Amino acid sequence: MSPTADERRPVVTSGAEPTPIGQLPPVGQVPATMQAQVIRPSRYGDPLTAFQPETVPTPQLGPDEVLIGVMAAGINYNNVWAARGYPVDQVAVRQKRGETEDFHIGGSDASGIVYAVGENVTGITIGDHVITHPGVWNADDPWIARGKDPMIAPSARIYGYDTNYGSFGQFTRVQAHQVLPKAPHLTWEQAAAPTLVGTTAYRMLHGWSGNTLSEGDVVLVWGGSGGLGTQACQLARLAGALPVAVVSDPERGAFAEKYGAVGWINRRDFDHWGIPPLVDDATGQKAWTQSARAFGKRIWDIVGERKDPAIVFEHPGASTIPTSIFVCEAGGMVVVCAGTTGYDAMVDLRYHWTRQKRLQGSHGTNDEQARAYNDLVVAGKVDPCLGRVEPFDAIGRVHAAMGRGEDVFGNVSVLVGAAEPGLGRQ
Ligand code: NAP
Repeated sequence: MSPTADERRPVVTSGAEPTPIGQLPPVGQVPATMQAQVIRPSRYGDPLTAFQPETVPTPQLGPDEVLIGVMAAGINYNNVWAARGYPVDQVAVRQKRGETEDFHIGGSDASGIVYAVGENVTGITIGDHVITHPGVWNADDPWIARGKDPMIAPSARIYGYDTNYGSFGQFTRVQAHQVLPKAPHLTWEQAAAPTLVGTTAYRMLHGWSGNTLSEGDVVLVWGGSGGLGTQACQLARLAGALPVAVVSDPERGAFAEKYGAVGWINRRDFDHWGIPPLVDDATGQKAWTQSARAFGKRIWDIVGERKDPAIVFEHPGASTIPTSIFVCEAGGMVVVCAGTTGYDAMVDLRYHWTRQKRLQGSHGTNDEQARAYNDLVVAGKVDPCLGRVEPFDAIGRVHAAMGRGEDVFGNVSVLVGAAEPGLGRQ
């Protein structure tokens, strides 16, 4: 089980006052309070106003947990949802589980310095330069005790979305197994940028036995210039596969190519999105199929042969699932981790079963996948695709822009404890 409020211990070793943003106290000294960008239920709605800077108590630490002084935090789409309080009211869900806080400090990617460790933690030392992966679970979950994938366990959560005290505060609390070495060649803001999307992409492409990435596979990557998409393009290329990006303009296409896409399709050239005409509408179905076929032909034109995607990398959801399933090769997999455009997606089961395709859900990462992904980053084989760096007080604005679909060039980081961009290389 996660530690209860009683089992968590204060780690306070220095004064009560937080340091200014852009500074952290001497390593190992933890003030009683910290600054954070805080979401409260009374402010749910537009991320621009849902996030507000506040001074809050520094989180206490359970025996298997680690306190990290955050130098930079990565921005992810999940805290657009958290700020809206939709589809999940995270504060209410946690209060139902017995947590007492009436606020949410999000942030699912951190780079920083270890300031304190719980009494059971081994192999992590105060002063280590680290990053975090987003998979959280209870080690004594019966599912995990049976040797099963912890990210499918009933206790599995996403750090800094389902859990409180994420990386949008000066200190963040994580489970020890989430802590990974920071790539020494990266700055704080680069290191904070890619891990949630990168590990998610790694699990989607390598985690589903029977349909894992193989050399020569065509992989269709929706949102090829975005956070997930730029990681997926790189991972596919590293495995010798042929990632074809889908984007909404040529500039985004060029960005996806920079990170490994062999070509790109402008989705604005087509209009067959959303729920297709139903089976008794023969004329409508014919028109839909023609457009979906033309989209599939673009894939063949890019790869230079009539080869359909073995894997379709999905997250837009409602708008694109029918096309994803249509173009996926027989026996192939559409792997989906989100429904950004909506959750009500339609599948024409006739083709699904006769062509024996797989529609696979995927969420987060387990430790093994996170380590494998981070090893590639540390080795310099995967680029964090940092599109932009912003200050701490821009957290609300950046999420608002992301929610409007404006931040689509790789990843965005904010500086928290780092005084300026460019620091942190060792
Ligand atoms: P992002 O950086 O904002 O990228 C989203 C991409 O979606 C954009 O590049 C955009 O590209 C594309 N897009 C927007 N509207 C579209 C539409 N109508 N049809 C097709 N594509 C569209 O976001 P991200 O970080 O990649 O995350 C994407 C989604 O995955 C979010 O909902 C996020 O919460 C989710 N996610 C889930 C997990 C998990 O573990 N389950 C992990 C990470 C992310 P174009 O406009 O150029 O097409």
